[in-house]
This record gives sequence, structure tokens and C-alpha cells, in this order.
Amino acid sequence: MAGKIPRLFIDDLLNRVDIVEVIDARVPLKKKGKEYWACCPFHGEKSASFSVSQNKQFYHCFGCQQSGNAISFLIEYDHMEFVEAIETLAQIVGLEVPYEQGQAPSAPTHSFEPLYESLEQCSNYFQSQLKLNPLAIEYLKQRGISGDIARDFAIGFAPKGWNNLTGNKKTLTEAGMLIEKDGGQPYDRFRHRLMFPIRDRRGRTIAFGGRVIDPEDNPKYLNSPESPVFHKGSEIYGLFELKKGTNNIDHILITEGYMDVIGLAQHGVKTAVATLGTAINNEQIEKLFRSSKSLIFCFDGDNAGKKAAWRSLEQCLTSLKEGRIARFLFLPEGHDPDSYIQEFGHQAYLGEIDKAATLSEFLFDTLTAECDISSSEGKAMLLDRLDPYVKQIPLQSLKDQILSRAEGLTSDKHEARLQKLLSRSNNNHETRILPPEQTWTPTRLAINLLLQKPALAKGLGNQYELSETKIPGIDLLLKIIDRIQDEPEISTQNLLHRFQGDAHESHLYQLAAMRPQIEDEASLDKMFQDCLNRLQKEYIKYRRNLLIKKLQTNGSISESEKTELKQLFTIQ
Ligand SMILES: [Zn+2]
Repeated sequence: MAGKIPRLFIDDLLNRVDIVEVIDARVPLKKKGKEYWACCPFHGEKSASFSVSQNKQFYHCFGCQQSGNAISFLIEYDHMEFVEAIETLAQIVGLEVPYEQGQAPSAPTHSFEPLYESLEQCSNYFQSQLKLNPLAIEYLKQRGISGDIARDFAIGFAPKGWNNLTGNKKTLTEAGMLIEKDGGQPYDRFRHRLMFPIRDRRGRTIAFGGRVIDPEDNPKYLNSPESPVFHKGSEIYGLFELKKGTNNIDHILITEGYMDVIGLAQHGVKTAVATLGTAINNEQIEKLFRSSKSLIFCFDGDNAGKKAAWRSLEQCLTSLKEGRIARFLFLPEGHDPDSYIQEFGHQAYLGEIDKAATLSEFLFDTLTAECDISSSEGKAMLLDRLDPYVKQIPLQSLKDQILSRAEGLTSDKHEARLQKLLSRSNNNHETRILPPEQTWTPTRLAINLLLQKPALAKGLGNQYELSETKIPGIDLLLKIIDRIQDEPEISTQNLLHRFQGDAHESHLYQLAAMRPQIEDEASLDKMFQDCLNRLQKEYIKYRRNLLIKKLQTNGSISESEKTELKQLFTIQ
């Protein structure tokens, strides 16, 4: 059982991970000045006020004030649990998460633990059965699937018989592995089938697909039903295996079944995934775009394939943000990716990929085929048809591309309408409102500078006396200085992380996100020194007034106070 994750590890992880990379993979960022910007993913907005700082490794939205580090981003954006976010980041930088013994992690995933364990046991059982069944091995051989690929995808075999699975019947039923019979004993759902485990992004088996090996059996493909750990519409077959195999995914091929994924992998095309017997939805597309910016949808060249492709296009439109590309590949009729690559091989398949239509080509060609563009009515119809699709695309350059192509086809008569269409989409052009100018008090500036370069406070001493002045923000500044005295080598991201859950947390992120950005080290040091001098002066002024007031009220002050007062007047 996993235990608590040591703080040192989290520090190390935050120092290694690049938050720009993590966020950019999910919300495309644009560099402006020193920071990266995007429209905030946490509140609706048309201009970018969501900033990500590479130096300080945090994000901050000037609109809704959401801020945090790479961990909190994954928790907020991907709805991950804390431990899952740590695991995900660790995977990116290639670190193994160490768990301290004795304490359980805070993630409330325990209730599903028996289901995961039970499904894992089933998977192991099926894999061991595959080795014992010559018929199943022969079938795989015939389809050209090697032992290596069978192992990579954990392919197994469910033997004949109704009661092969052992374990807690209730759990097995909940996991979809057993079927409950009225009044009788539950029996095995999968019998005499090749078994393909479906794994979630953490590699846990959550369901199975089963394929018959006897052509007489029905149905040819059988999937696990929905269960507490398996939601068909959210999962993608092969994504775990793909991400495990490579860190830098150039593109993802989306196919229609697990045999396509495995068949392609067998021929060296290891970038394929598949939906699970349902049409792909936007949630799945978003998930895939977060793993790669280029998606290629593969379909059979027949009518059913074209229809399925069009449905995918419709699901894609709203996800087409900066840098993302969707393409559509149609194989010659009668072929699916598996049969095509078996017949023609790897190189030919790559050639097909190169020929894949861009989304705008596919959109345009499909609609043009439906309208007779040689007539002006047909052209008008084309513009009408394009309109609802173009509207959904958030990326201006893609809209322009489609519309300029329409422009080439339409006559002067349609020019006005086209202009209307163009101007409507142009209204969405992003104009970023800069965060309001901030007033820089010495305290605010000192905090901002320390967050840029914590080492500024090294050897400074605790400065506690300043707290007497009650200058706004002074307690936070002293707290930060205190922290740095304790951990002189602390990085910005770790320093910010120390204030997680602190009453000052959001204030701190706000200050960290504020300008000015000072470029060179020397002026950073000088400016910080200047802030401290000004705060010291405030303190002197405060003490002087206090002692004078005391003298006026009481008629006298102590000897030490007299000495102090004298000193206070000699300091300039
Ligand atoms: Zn926001």
C-alpha cells in the first residue's frame, strides 16, 4: 500500500518540472514579454489574462485570481487527485515517486481499490491462460501478432466454461466480469475469447474487450459493461501503452478498434489508439489533444467510414485551438488499418498518413460535394452550410483559411455575404487587456523581488522589529524572509509551495504575478536593498514618534530609551 509522499521529493519535482510545458500541452500559451499568456481556462473570457511564469513556475489569472503551481494546475484543470498529479508530473520528468511507509495518501481512491485489484487479477489469469491454449496462440500467429506485442498489450485468453474466475463474486460482478443470474450463481461474462485489457492513463486495468476465436461464436466483439471504474465515453484504448512507449508523441492515429491498434503496433506504427465501440466524443478528443497536438482520424473508405469521419469532425471543431491539427485519413475501400498494413506494410501506411486530408479540406470537400457550386444558388448554399461549422472553430487562422478558400469559389455577388461572415468571425479577435498598473509600496516590491530571487534574503537576519510598524503586508514579508533563513537555497516554486493553504497564499501569488520584471541581477539586488532601507526608515520614524509621544505623555523615558532616541536621530 502506498504511503505519504516525502516533501523533499515534491520540492525536487517542482524544481524539475516546467510548468509552461505542462500547461501548454493543455492550454496553448503564447509568449509575450517574459511571461506566457492564454485565455483563462478557469473562467470564460475573450482576452488573455491568464499568465504563466517560467521563472517563477506558477500561473496566475488577473481576471479570476486563480493561481498555483504545476501540481495545483493538474488538480484544477485535469481534476486529478493530489497523488495522481504528483505521479503524472513525476512521469514527465522520469522520476519514481517514493512513498513513506505507514501513512496512506490522502487521495480518496480507496473505495475502488478492490475493483482495480480484482480486474488486475483477471488480467493476470487471462494472460496465463493464453500460454496454455494452442488454439488462441495459433490465432494470434495467423494475425501476425508476436509474443512481444501480446505482452505489451497484456493480451490474454478467457477459456471455455462458465465458472473460471475466482475471487470475490460481488466485486467481480461490480467490475463487469460476472453476470448475475436470477436466483442462480453468477457466471463468467467472457468465455472462449481473446482478452484485451483496457487500461486507464495510470495503467490500471479497468475493463476488457473480448474477441471470439471461433467464427461461429457471437458476438464477434464483446466489451465490459460500464462500471464504477469504466466509463466507455471517457476512455481511449491504447493511450496508456502509447504514452508509456514515448514521451514525445508527434501525432496520434485514432482508429476504430483494438485490433487496429495492435495490428499497427505489430508493424511498427505505435501511435494508434481506438475508441471503445462508440463514436468519439469531444471529451476524448480533448484528452488526446493534451497528449499530442496532431490527431489523425483513420477510417475505412466506405460510406460508413465517411459518416463516422464527419461525426468526428463535428466533435473536433471547438477543440481546434492554437497549434492543434486534426486530419482525416481514408483507406482504400474494404480496408481497415489492420488489414491495410498487413497487406501493404509500414511504408505504404506512412504514405497514406502523408496524404491525410486536413480538417479544412475534409470540411470543404464534403460540403462542396453537396452543393452545385457551378450555380450561384449552389455557392450561396455552400456559404450557408459552412457558417455553423466555421463559427465553432476558436482558431482565427483556421477560420481564415476556410473562408479564403470559399472566397476563391464565390462570385462578386457573394462577396458581401462572405465579408459579413468574415467580419463576424473577426470580432472574436483577441485583444488582451493588461492587468492594471500596480502601486509599488516597498513591502510589495520587496515580496515581489524575493519571489523572483529568494537568495536576496540570505543572511539578512529576521528583521522582526519591522513588524511593530504595522505597515500593510509587513507580516507576510517577514514570514517569507523567515522561510528563506530556514532554507537559504530554496527555489521560487518551493517557496510558493510552502505557503499552500496559508491565509496569505492568494495574496502571495498576486504579488508574484505583478510587474515590474527586472532583467539584470545587479538592479534586482539594488532594488531589494532600497526597499529594505525604506522600510528601515519607516521603522526609525515610527520609533522616534513613539518615544517622543511617550516623553510628552509621561514627562520622562528610561535611560535605554534615551540612548535609543539619540541614536534614532543620528541615523539618516
Ligand atoms: Zn481566470
